[in-house]
Amino acid sequence: MLDRIRIVLIGTSHPGNIGGVARAMHNMGLADLALVAPRCEPVTADSVSRASGADHLVHGARVVETLEQAVADCTLVVGASARSRTLPWPMIAPRALGARLPQELAGDGARVALVFGREDSGLTNAELQRCHAHVHIPTNPDFSSLNLAAAVQVLAYECRLAWLEEEPAPTEEPAQALATHEELEHYFAHLERTLIAIGFHDPAMPRQLMARLRRFTLRARPERMELNILRGILSDTEKLAPPRDDA
Ligand code: SAH
Repeated sequence: MLDRIRIVLIGTSHPGNIGGVARAMHNMGLADLALVAPRCEPVTADSVSRASGADHLVHGARVVETLEQAVADCTLVVGASARSRTLPWPMIAPRALGARLPQELAGDGARVALVFGREDSGLTNAELQRCHAHVHIPTNPDFSSLNLAAAVQVLAYECRLAWLEEEPAPTEEPAQALATHEELEHYFAHLERTLIAIGFHDPAMPRQLMARLRRFTLRARPERMELNILRGILSDTEKLAPPRDDA
């Protein structure tokens, strides 16, 4: 189970934090680290020293340009956030997240990403809206933001606790393959194109439409097969859309 949990750090600016994250992960038995557009050199004397023996995770970290690349194959993406945002999103508490993991990771090809933001500005709204749920570590509301490696430590600990307590998943119900992040993103792009083509959505006046449809869809946890049906409907809808002047 722990092998299928990826820690994703976006735009990290201090190598020491990357080392601290590697240490926290290795302490808890996690090994899959992805760095999205880091704003520092990941492997430095500082990061290696803060990793204190877990620097193989820093050396082995996958460095990518976008969040999409980091989580394309994940079936559940959870964003860690110190603050609440304008459009409320499904929230899950750290312990409840851990408790959900054994079942969540039981199916074939299931993979979970925990996404952490920049030291200075956290995650953007666009990044948070690419997550199925948000996790907030309950802290002093007057001083809510943890150090990045400390935040990873808390959630990695919850993953480990859940793994230690793991009960064998019930076998009767064969789990259907859930859609991956990449499949969901293709669906959202297709949906937006279609809604524009039929004149339902005006990108100049977005009114949070796509964010609300994202929240709704992600809450439903669609299976791959269900998403294929929706995409089939979109393709047929596109064929019926009136030709555009600029086409
Ligand atoms: N100053 C930033 C917080 C940066 S802390 C802000 O106001 O958003 C760096 C990252 O650690 C955050 O993006 C988040 O992923 C994680 N983090 C820090 N405190 C957290 C908390 N209380 N709950 C969940 N994640 C937290």
